[in-house]
Amino acid sequence: MRKVLIVGAGQSGLQLGLSLQALRYEVKLISARTPAEIRGGRVMSTQVMFRTALGYERQHGLNLWEAQAPKITGLRLSVGGPDGARVLDWRGELAGFAQSVDQRVKMAGWLELFAERGGAVEYRSVGVSELDELSRGYDLVVVAAGAGELGRIFERDPAWSPFTEPQRALAVSYVRGAAPSSDVDDSGLVRFNSVPGVGEFFVIPGCTEGGPCDISFFEGIPGGPLDCWADRPGPAEHWARMLELMRTYVPWEHERFAGAELTDDRAVLAGAVTPVVRKPVARLPSGSAVLGMADAVVVNDPVTGQGVNSASKAAESYLDSIVRRADRPFDPEWMRETFDRFWDYARHVTVWSNAMVRPSPPHVRRLLGAAAEIPAIRNRFANGFDDPADFESWFLDPAGAEEYLSALS
Ligand SMILES: Cc1cc2nc3c(=O)[nH]c(=O)nc-3n(C[C@H](O)[C@H](O)[C@H](O)COP(=O)(O)OP(=O)(O)OC[C@H]3O[C@@H](n4cnc5c(N)ncnc54)[C@H](O)[C@@H]3O)c2cc1C
Repeated sequence: MRKVLIVGAGQSGLQLGLSLQALRYEVKLISARTPAEIRGGRVMSTQVMFRTALGYERQHGLNLWEAQAPKITGLRLSVGGPDGARVLDWRGELAGFAQSVDQRVKMAGWLELFAERGGAVEYRSVGVSELDELSRGYDLVVVAAGAGELGRIFERDPAWSPFTEPQRALAVSYVRGAAPSSDVDDSGLVRFNSVPGVGEFFVIPGCTEGGPCDISFFEGIPGGPLDCWADRPGPAEHWARMLELMRTYVPWEHERFAGAELTDDRAVLAGAVTPVVRKPVARLPSGSAVLGMADAVVVNDPVTGQGVNSASKAAESYLDSIVRRADRPFDPEWMRETFDRFWDYARHVTVWSNAMVRPSPPHVRRLLGAAAEIPAIRNRFANGFDDPADFESWFLDPAGAEEYLSALS
């Protein structure tokens, strides 16, 4: 059977590894951390996954937390005004539920499953020369090492990478004990609060070790008041600071979180990512070619909650390309075609995510305002998170937006 080496045990590397393993490919995974280190480590994401990506996990029998994780049935969008008032507030329904399972739980569990099923795992963080050495004897090497250092072996593609700096300062806390809404029942909804000129605040019903939780997530415009994490406060101070920011910028959320507590002392995260698209094939010093997957080659700002979804879709698309290749060589031309097939979809995610970190243009403000009156718009917006390719014709194109609005009125 064909031998595949995968570097990186995140959503994409593990999903591809486990699904190839089930088809009896000989797969070896390189993971920088053991399951115990992942479980005992810091939270890594807010990891909302929508219907299509969840469907891939279910198809491969990897939906191990589906029964425990809260089902997310829609999106509540609120826009804050300058005086802390809510100037827009509506909900869109998802056609299929979404879920968020703490990656500490999921990645550790999937790694153990891969090993229990006889998969080879080597626990080490590899650099380029080690990778070059390790890759000998494999038919295919896939680098799925996320947005970190190793991805730099793939050349940046300036045509698709308009930014050279992070577009948001990120701060996350996983908590329990938040109060329900005092106005409408919004349990089971992702709450997407936008404060123009300041940033965004999301609340996501999720699950972690020990049960359900609320995942709260600030995205702050650089240099603004939410960009205040450079001193990397400890967990208690991190959460206290998030509460203070809620009080000022999204006071309707502050009321609900005042009595909440962190799920554990590793349940906070602060950071930033620079959106980038890279060329999918890199050459190692020995001349052999490796294929990049998911965040190793395409990083978007998490404002659109797409990275894990794209990682799952990349793993599924690469799986299909690998299987179709049968016993022909995984040469650089095939690698480029494999990426291009995924990129046909993923370019939509990049274009939409890059638009969402910029100030909203007038046609987007009109659409979001009209959505308060027209359910079709708000449902279409919510379901675009599952299929961002849909945004191109109406949300990202001013003329398309006008046409869509006039067809609805
Ligand atoms: C704050 C925040 C919130 C987010 N929220 C969402 C969301 O709600 N929805 C969504 O879809 N996406 C979200 N994302 C994005 C999402 O988490 C990532 O895009 C996704 O996890 C990427 O998956 P991946 O498989 O490419 O890499 P990763 O999940 O990053 O996994 C890479 C793995 O490779 C390992 N590794 C790295 N370097 C090496 C090395 N040299 N040797 C060996 N192993 C190595 C790492 O330890 C890691 O285990 C969020 C991201 C952030 C930062």
